[in-house]
Order: sequence, then structure tokens, then C-alpha cells
Amino acid sequence: MKHILFVASESLPFVKTGGLADVVGSLPQALSSNYRVSVFLPLYSSVIPKLKDAKAVVSFQISTPCIHQPATILKQTHDGIDYYFLQHQGYFERDGYYGYPDDGERFAFFNLACATFIEKVNLSVDIIHSHDWHAGMMPLLSRVVFKHHPNHKNIKHVFTIHNLAYQGQFPLSVAKDCLGLSDHIINDGSIRFDDGVNFLKSAIVYAHKITTVSPSYAQEILGVAFGERLHEVLRLRQYDLYGILNGIDTTFWNPSEDPFIPYHFDSETLDNKIKNKLALQKKLGLKSSENTLLLGVVSRLTWQKGIHLILDQMADIMGLDVQLVVLGSGEAHLEHGFRHMVEKYYGRLAYVAGYNEPLAHEIYAGCDLLLMPSLFEPCGLSQMIAMRYGTLPLVREVGGLKDSVLPYNSSDQSGTGFSFKDFSISDLYHVLRMAVYLYYHYPSEFEQVQRNAMNEDFSWALSSVQYAKVYDSL
Ligand code: ADP
Repeated sequence: MKHILFVASESLPFVKTGGLADVVGSLPQALSSNYRVSVFLPLYSSVIPKLKDAKAVVSFQISTPCIHQPATILKQTHDGIDYYFLQHQGYFERDGYYGYPDDGERFAFFNLACATFIEKVNLSVDIIHSHDWHAGMMPLLSRVVFKHHPNHKNIKHVFTIHNLAYQGQFPLSVAKDCLGLSDHIINDGSIRFDDGVNFLKSAIVYAHKITTVSPSYAQEILGVAFGERLHEVLRLRQYDLYGILNGIDTTFWNPSEDPFIPYHFDSETLDNKIKNKLALQKKLGLKSSENTLLLGVVSRLTWQKGIHLILDQMADIMGLDVQLVVLGSGEAHLEHGFRHMVEKYYGRLAYVAGYNEPLAHEIYAGCDLLLMPSLFEPCGLSQMIAMRYGTLPLVREVGGLKDSVLPYNSSDQSGTGFSFKDFSISDLYHVLRMAVYLYYHYPSEFEQVQRNAMNEDFSWALSSVQYAKVYDSL
């Protein structure tokens, strides 16, 4: 069996800030019948209480011009997968995960420690599958800096871009002093960007194969509009670039067994879904009304997610016979906008700030529509989760939203949601009005679309076969 080592900054069930953690948490299981998969992660403070019988495997010293630090690797097996945690109190045992002034140094250390771990402990790794910028230096370190070591010599590298907008850009001193890279590598154009170093660019240049999380996003990032200034580098690698749609963990996200929701249901018992709506309305102080269409948003509140389209259109949206529940935090002006709107639409609009897993499940279970008007969306998981719970996604036709939501077609009642093309308030509103009209005037058709959505297969089964093809091509 080939041994694949995932290197990432997040993975469920240990640490999650976004979809990356869902993917790194689920894909190893989906691959485990054909591959041995292990996962390498930082040991953040929040992870420590979740480790049960983790054992130290090895300790060593990392020494570069500016880093002289010890590293210890702990191992914990969970559901048959080996997890290796990089322990370093100063770098990782903090309140948050990212956004510190020394992120360049912290993640330079993370990549160096992983490469050194492979050198010190013979795990017979065949493929390193690194994820996002945090692990973006792995292909370069393994293929260039550690290439003569027998444990590294034959390793092939796959790199997955979960979101091209986050690239890990740092001053050149991170490359020179923290990573200890030679002037030759620094100056050959492979990792430099705006006179700094770019971890994501480095991975695009040095990985054998690159994947991203939906076929549409794989195409979109080759152009100026979505390429985040790396489109030309990506075009040079386009024949090694694959778009593979993410799956979701259909055991965790299962309305017929979900422990977080008050009433279980499936596509044949949608009446119980309405009970979840009533429970949610009660919990959040919304007017109790089983027949009122309930809109939901479960999202990071950032410009990427098109949240301001909803805020800017609020008067028109609330002019329809709907209620709205929003869960998420992020940019201050968006949080402030929703707080303000709650006062205005008291009893019809609820806003809960923060990250709240149980409430997210209750929203997916209790709502009728989920709004996701993203400016760009590499894959998106919320729309797939929503569909599994019979909550129809209303999305912009972009990236993975386009690849996972089939727009409603009145002629044959096909479709799994609603979509619009242009990133504009009027297009969003136009489609929302159509969905609301369908809900109130053609409830049996609306239910048919709910059943279509719930019967879609969003498990990892299909996607893991495509990852296997990439691995086997190496
Ligand atoms: P991204 O990774 O860009 O944030 P995705 O749609 O790919 O967006 O993944 C978002 C994941 O995070 C989903 O599982 C969603 O349910 C979850 N999520 C987002 N915001 C919250 C929140 N405030 N509370 C709980 N879960 C959330």
C-alpha cells in the first residue's frame, strides 16, 4: 500500500476554522481502503485537550540563521489514521491560529519540522499531499533542500489549493533566514513574489501535481479575474492541475441521525423538518410560524462570501414574506450591519456571531433556503450540507457552487437549488423572489426540489476515486 502523508494546518476532529479542516478530516478515511494515510498538523492549544493517549515519537532541533528551536512530534491514532502533531509551545500554543506578525516564521518552522521529521523517522512515505499555503514549502524543501536524503529521495508531491486568495506572502527574510534557503533558490523566480516570498507560488512551481477543489475553480484560476495574480504561474502548470469537487462527511451531516438537531428526518419525512424550523424560531426569538419561509446564512462574514449583497438588499429581502437567520463572524462592518438589522427587523431576523457547530446543524435542519451569493467560491461545503438537509441553496454560479447546485427547472421540476450569474444585487433578488414564489404558490414542487437535493450523493466516494487517479499517475 502506498503511504500518503497529508500536511495541513487544520483537520477535523482536532482543529477547524473553515472547509480545509473538513477535507483533511474526511479524505484520509475515504482513501484508507487503498492507501495508508497519515496526517501531520501543528499542535495548537485548542488541540491539546482533544489528545487522549498521544505519545512522543521523536524530538530534534531546527537550526537556520534565525530559528534555533526544538521540535517534538507526538503521535495519536484516531479512527485508524495516524496523526502526527508538531509541538512547539511558543509558535503554536496561542489563543488563535493565524494573523500573527510572525506567521512566516511559524509556518517556515512547521514545514522545516515536517521535512526533518521525515528525514529522522523512516515512515516510508511515497507521497506528500500538502494543503494550502501553510504547507506550501513542503515540495521545495523535500525536492531540493532534503533531496539527497534516502527518506526524501523518491517522494512525489501533490498540493491542493483550497483557496487561492490566501497565499502566505512574507518578506524575503523568511526565505533566507527562517527557511535558510540559498540565494540561488531565492533569486531564480520560483518562490519570489512582489519582492517577498510566496508559499503558495512555491508549491505551484515545485509540486508534481496540483489539485484544487472543484473543476470550475480549476478553470477560473487560470484567468486574471480569479487568478489572484498567480494565473500565469498556474497556466504554466495547467496540464498538471486537476479540479476535484470536495465531498462532505455524510455520517456527520445526516439529518436522520444528527445528534445536534431536535427532530430527525429524511426526504420522505419532511414534516419533521418543519418541527426543526419551529424549534429554531423559538430558540432565536423569531416569530413562531411554520409556514413562513426561513432563510439561513452559515458563513465566515467576509467579502469573498458576498455577504454585503444581502445587507445592501435587506430592505427588499425583508419586504418579502420571509425570516432570516445569520450565523457567523468576520469583518467588523458586516457584523455591525447584521446587529443593526436585528433592531430594525426584530422578531424576523436573528444574528448570532461566532463559530457555533450545534447551531449550524440546527440552521441547516430548520431553514428552507440557504443564501450563498459568493464573489468566488473554490468549492464551498455549506451548500452541499444544506442540500443534504433539504435546505435549498441559493447560490451564485461560480466555482464549486456552479459544480454542485443544479438550478431549478420548472419544466420538469429538476434541480437542487437556485442560482444567478452576475454578482449583482438585482440578480440575487430576482432569483430569491422566484424561489419565494415557488415556496408559497407551488409547495409540492418546492418539496420535489428538496427531495432532489436530499437524494444527491455528496459523499467522498466519487472524489476519492479522482484523488486516487492523481496519486496513481505519479
Ligand atoms: P470556507 O471554507 O470558505 O469558510 P466552506 O463552505 O467551504 O467555506 O466551509 C465552511 C464550513 O464551516 C462548513 O462546514 C460550515 O458549516 C462551517 N461554518 C462556517 N461558519 C460557521 C459558523 N459560524 N459556525 C459553525 N460552522 C460554520
